[in-house]
Amino acid sequence: MSKDKQYIKQIHTRRWLMLRREVLSRHPLCERCQAEGRTRAATEVHHITPVEEGVSPLDKRTLMFDAHNLQALCHECHVRTHTELGRSGRHANADRQHRKAEATISRFFSS
Ligand SMILES: [Zn+2]
Repeated sequence: MSKDKQYIKQIHTRRWLMLRREVLSRHPLCERCQAEGRTRAATEVHHITPVEEGVSPLDKRTLMFDAHNLQALCHECHVRTHTELGRSGRHANADRQHRKAEATISRFFSS
């Protein structure tokens, strides 16, 4: 999913493979499907905050291996989640924040 060099290196480590297996055994069902009322097996582990958003190598490592940053998903939801995040999650997020701010402003100033 990512072209970040450190991410690619870490995704092949024993530490990641073991963590990934642990997440999938703890969450055998896709968390997004469950939230949307479907039952489907989770096959992939998603990083909620993309690893490449880490500023320093330590930041990236923290994002990579933080259990709270991980979500068990089926392939379809994983693809869908990344599509929604956009080509660049950070820009998509900034857009979202911007739209939210505009909505708030118009709510306050129009009557
Ligand atoms: Zn799913």
